Amino acid sequence: MTPRDPGRLKIVGLSLSNRCTNECIFCGDVRMNVPVLNAGQIATKLEGYRRSGYNGIDISSKEFTLRPDALEILRHARGLGFDMIHLVTNGHVFARSKRAAEFLDAGITDLTLSLHSDSSETESLITGNPSSFSRKLASIESVLRYVAERKSGLVFSVNTVMTPLTASRLDRVMDFVASRGVRRHNLFFPRIQGHMLDAFERTVPRFSEVSGPLSKGLDQVDARGVACSVLDVPPCVIAKHARRVCARLSQEDLFNISGGDAGSERRRDAGWGKVKGEPCRACPLAEKCEGVPAAYAERRGWLEFVPPPPESQPLGAG
Ligand code: SF4
Repeated sequence: MTPRDPGRLKIVGLSLSNRCTNECIFCGDVRMNVPVLNAGQIATKLEGYRRSGYNGIDISSKEFTLRPDALEILRHARGLGFDMIHLVTNGHVFARSKRAAEFLDAGITDLTLSLHSDSSETESLITGNPSSFSRKLASIESVLRYVAERKSGLVFSVNTVMTPLTASRLDRVMDFVASRGVRRHNLFFPRIQGHMLDAFERTVPRFSEVSGPLSKGLDQVDARGVACSVLDVPPCVIAKHARRVCARLSQEDLFNISGGDAGSERRRDAGWGKVKGEPCRACPLAEKCEGVPAAYAERRGWLEFVPPPPESQPLGAG
């Protein structure tokens, strides 16, 4: 596998499955009916994307590996010359080494496995699947073994979505993931959408509860050399690591770099349902901060968001 330039990737996101063995409490797809295309239709789409200049695909939504023709689709994508074939998975199919190797050999270049806690009991409460935790741990082990034995260039990450069940112990979850040998860990504040609006208290943690453990966890995993990213947490919530949670703070002129402009960035934030409130008026980070999910601010107000003093910018080590 040759090193690739992320700046040269043109990626299309694909939802190719309407089934999953889990029912995660934060999953926006769980009650969504994804139209299922057959292998021939998918092949035609992939060929069209290649002709249009796409060189990366991102397969997420429900669980692609449950498709009987999943390997055939991956091999076809590889044959078309995509530089990046990224699969986001609940990981269950990778628990058996032989099956993991079949999938990885079929062309996956980037694999992201979801693990949301550090205990079987909590993971099953989050995913609705009692066997989920043990299968995910077995999957992490078999993928890391594959990478070591094949000297594979696979980009392997773990995704964790923060929940009320794990908010106060995020540092332990992060430590646990690192202890399994994972070297790339992404933490997400849940995107509040669909059925989550009806189950808000059960599915959405408080930023004030997440803040301390997340900061401690970042200190710990930084010391262990784990590449850790945090998404959808406003920088004022975690001032020590503000640059980590808000990439725009690290970019002198992000709008020129991205080829966009401040207006288009703000429109994108609004599209994700993020807003600014009263505290943001006096915030030195307001121009680059994405803001707070509107559904969150509507229910819990703005007391948790305290802007840093102007002289404290820039914040965090990055
Ligand atoms: S703009 Fe608002 S949400 Fe963003 S860091 Fe400042 S106070 Fe927090």
